[in-house]
Amino acid sequence: MRLVRFTLDRHLPATTPDTSPLVRYGVVDNETVYETRAWWAERTGAAWPLAAVRLLPPCWPSKIVCVGRNYEEHARELGNLAPGEPVIFLKPPSALAAHGDPILMPPISNRVDYEGEIGVVIGTRARNVPVERAHEYILGYTCVNDVTARDLQRKDVQWTRAKGFDTFCPVGPWIVPASELSLEALRLRTWVDGQIRQQATPAEMIFSVPRIIAFVSEVMTLEPGDLIATGTPAGVGPLAPGSVVRVEIEHVGILENRAVAP
Ligand code: MG
Repeated sequence: MRLVRFTLDRHLPATTPDTSPLVRYGVVDNETVYETRAWWAERTGAAWPLAAVRLLPPCWPSKIVCVGRNYEEHARELGNLAPGEPVIFLKPPSALAAHGDPILMPPISNRVDYEGEIGVVIGTRARNVPVERAHEYILGYTCVNDVTARDLQRKDVQWTRAKGFDTFCPVGPWIVPASELSLEALRLRTWVDGQIRQQATPAEMIFSVPRIIAFVSEVMTLEPGDLIATGTPAGVGPLAPGSVVRVEIEHVGILENRAVAP
């Protein structure tokens, strides 16, 4: 099953919250979107061709929690050591972009990087969750691009600016429920203009998804719809204006966005 948030308004911003009556939920089956009253809720009876709707980010997170340096080779490629415990930071919901939306390259950065990542969407409020029960709090998986202004990340003490520009968090195109596939089956690949740049499986993560959920939920309450970006593998690099980034997770979907010059 593929869970979507969508709208019939072609121009609705990706950052439109759930309180807007223009935001709808649905499931995609055979290139048709069947509207539902909410995630997992019953169908309303309304349906549209997938190509006729605008997909929005598939969840509306109160926060986007990102894990830095969660693959050893990636930590090394940026000159860092593998961390002893998860390094976490936040992206604001204002950074959300939908599948197909442009990534707007900020004029104050000279190096905007893609970072393909496995996204975990929380389904149940989570606080102080033990590792062995963490899977119970996962709604499902989606593709994330943790777009980063690398020059500003190096310049600043912390990464709020480098990671927080509008459109720096493309997510989607949908969520595949965790009940339908195992984490081990996910295979992440990132392509730029048709060339493969990143490739990894969750087995290569330094901190597993259950450990991340346990760690984060000891710090902050995770709400339904919150998004965890689980870190990027080796192979990050800069985007040129016009480049198309494709983040693919096998059995989940393909998230595609084009970088656009300021
Ligand atoms: Mg990242």
